[in-house]
Amino acid sequence: MGATGSIGTQTLDVLRREPEQFSLVAVSAGSSVEQLAAIIAEFAVPRAAVATEADRQALRALVPSSVEVLIGEPGLRALCEEVDVVVNAVVGFAGLPVTLATLEAGKDLALANKESLIAAAPLVELVRHRGGMILPVDSEHCAIHQCLVGEGAAGRPDVRRLLLTASGGPFRTFSAEQLAAVTRDEALQHPTWAMGPKITVDSSTLMNKGLEVLEASALFGIGVDRIDVVVHPQSVVHSMVEYVDGSVLAQLSAPDMRLPIAYCLGFPARLPHHWGALDFTQALSLEFFPPDREKFPALALAYEAARRGGAAPAWLSAANEIAVEAFLQDRIAWREIVPVVSATLAAYEDVTLASLEELVAQDAMARRIAHDTLPA
Ligand code: NAD
Ligand code: MG
Repeated sequence: MGATGSIGTQTLDVLRREPEQFSLVAVSAGSSVEQLAAIIAEFAVPRAAVATEADRQALRALVPSSVEVLIGEPGLRALCEEVDVVVNAVVGFAGLPVTLATLEAGKDLALANKESLIAAAPLVELVRHRGGMILPVDSEHCAIHQCLVGEGAAGRPDVRRLLLTASGGPFRTFSAEQLAAVTRDEALQHPTWAMGPKITVDSSTLMNKGLEVLEASALFGIGVDRIDVVVHPQSVVHSMVEYVDGSVLAQLSAPDMRLPIAYCLGFPARLPHHWGALDFTQALSLEFFPPDREKFPALALAYEAARRGGAAPAWLSAANEIAVEAFLQDRIAWREIVPVVSATLAAYEDVTLASLEELVAQDAMARRIAHDTLPA
């Protein structure tokens, strides 16, 4: 799901190498209809979903009449029910129906869409054990999954803490003055990864790492007080697990998202494709630094949202989506992104999340407040 995006197209690359093992039985996109039609033709996909009725009509005109084309949230949900594994590569809160429908149907979920898990963690917990597994596509969480050898740290007294690595983004070494003058083009240039626009901006503010702390907590059932962030500019160590005896296990590979995608699709087997292989005949230097929490306040905000619990992570993520969108539309400056999130979170009043309706209402409230903090 989200087949036309950065993770989506890299998933197709994995499938191209494994035509015997996998068949692509359903795809979705927001509105990139022509690209979706090309995917449907290449992989002979029988079912698809797009966002709106207009998109449906546009796609209908481009694909054989035998292809079933569904729309909106019900369309996404229906596609997730009759498969073995779903790759959720939708961006943002829009990925929530995919996450929930897949787990409700007891299917395996290869999860790239961190926003759905972060916002809906208590609801995901309710449907998580119906026969499907959550396999993390996000490279850090995939690394931890590998270093933990299996699922779950909650019942693992042998684990002291999880160490999430962060490239530090393009502005890691910028001064406060330089940060105040950052442009849209600069924020869209990530030093080590080529990704969709939203996560690229999130990486530049370190909000991506903040979201990933929440994601790790939800995935592995471990409190954020046992999750730390380490800046590692080379993006070769994708994350680490520290055990109680001081031993640290790390997963290393070249930065290539096809490796975690293939890991999730193949699990527990490994697919033999060498996407992330390192060349040890060349010198390789690895550096690690503590993050600068004052220059990048998004990290502290994420920990605060975790401590408040309830719908606070959903508010953080929703406000961030609004702020990033406003930044990408040149409505606010880069340095204003995190303050929009902070101001929104300041208006949050504690609630416990018990239903999807409640989450959708909380998400809408956070978006409205975030909008109100934007300049007119
Ligand atoms: P992207 O913007 O490149 O692609 C997003 C996909 O979602 C597209 O196919 C788009 O058509 C679809 N989409 C957008 N809005 C939609 C809607 N309202 N309804 C249905 N579909 C919609 O994004 P991406 O970089 O591939 O990221 C996807 C997810 O994976 C994000 O949650 C991101 O945080 C996560 N992720 C990405 C990377 C990466 O390397 N790109 C790494 C780790 C995690
Ligand atoms: Mg990541």
